[in-house]
Amino acid sequence: MGASGQLTGTTAGMVCAHHHLYSALARGMPAPAKQPTTFREILEQIWWRLDVALDDEMIRWSAMLGAMEALQCGTTCIVDHHESPSAIEGSLSIIAEACAEVGVRTNLAYGVTDRHGSDGARRGLAENERFLRGGGRGMVGVHAAFTCTDETLAAAAGLAVDLGVGVHIHVAEGPDDAAAGARLAQLATEDWWLVHCVYLDRTLPGIIAHNPRSNMNNSVGYARPSARRNRVVLGTDGIGADMLEEARLAYARLRESDVTASPDTVWTWIDNGYLLFPEAREDRVTWNDPHPDEAWRVVFTPGLRALDVTLASGEEVLRNGLPTRVDAAEVRAKATEQAERLFTRL
Ligand SMILES: [Zn+2]
Repeated sequence: MGASGQLTGTTAGMVCAHHHLYSALARGMPAPAKQPTTFREILEQIWWRLDVALDDEMIRWSAMLGAMEALQCGTTCIVDHHESPSAIEGSLSIIAEACAEVGVRTNLAYGVTDRHGSDGARRGLAENERFLRGGGRGMVGVHAAFTCTDETLAAAAGLAVDLGVGVHIHVAEGPDDAAAGARLAQLATEDWWLVHCVYLDRTLPGIIAHNPRSNMNNSVGYARPSARRNRVVLGTDGIGADMLEEARLAYARLRESDVTASPDTVWTWIDNGYLLFPEAREDRVTWNDPHPDEAWRVVFTPGLRALDVTLASGEEVLRNGLPTRVDAAEVRAKATEQAERLFTRL
């Protein structure tokens, strides 16, 4: 029973296994001049216009807002994939600090790409290396094979081996990246974080991050993660960090393709998030529902909300739906300010 007298139940902390915190500011952005009609055009006309306009303050407040909204959904851990081509150096530390301030754990990566020339790729690699060698928790990030040269892919894979971490990379999200399997076959290892894999034509070693809502939004088709041998984790690809909401959608999409499928499959994807954040199993999230841990109920129960979150350390970071370490109204106001600056640049 919660403080207000309503029936409640608890779970461990949720893990968002693939996020782009910078997209927290994208909501409400001006529409592109020309209507995008393909996955590639969505990247070119929306995300690649947005990421190049980001500066340090925008990165900081988008991370703060994204982390706060995550916590309000019971998500205590975020695996983030970041790109800000005009503000690369130090960007991962800004995100790490902003999320830590709210009370959310992160595993961060800077998405290396040759879209801005080989110097851009080199600086992206350097940011991953700087952050990880400095004790940051994360992986080596790569945007995707189709925006990188073979030299850059090999350099990222080599750096990851040197640092003892995996590579966090978008793989065959759309048809433009259908060659990813062939190009990564000799590089990928079991600790790689393979995002999407919709058009992947073979088995690669690694963990597959499935993002059903984003795949639907980009009209790239169903990834069929349960048909693969890899372990699967669940992400949002930047559309918030409400993992029970994403799980409901993941279940609907799975079930659409196989009427015998069980929500237990989706719950193994949720559970695999603890591979990177085992300590989140000891977090306690109190929900506005007495059965938040029963998959068959949750997939048919819209609107579950996290009321309180207590981290494994014993610290309460969310109380009655509000963050305890930061002022929710202030975070929203600052993020709105930064979003307006961003939209002006666009
Ligand atoms: Zn992504």
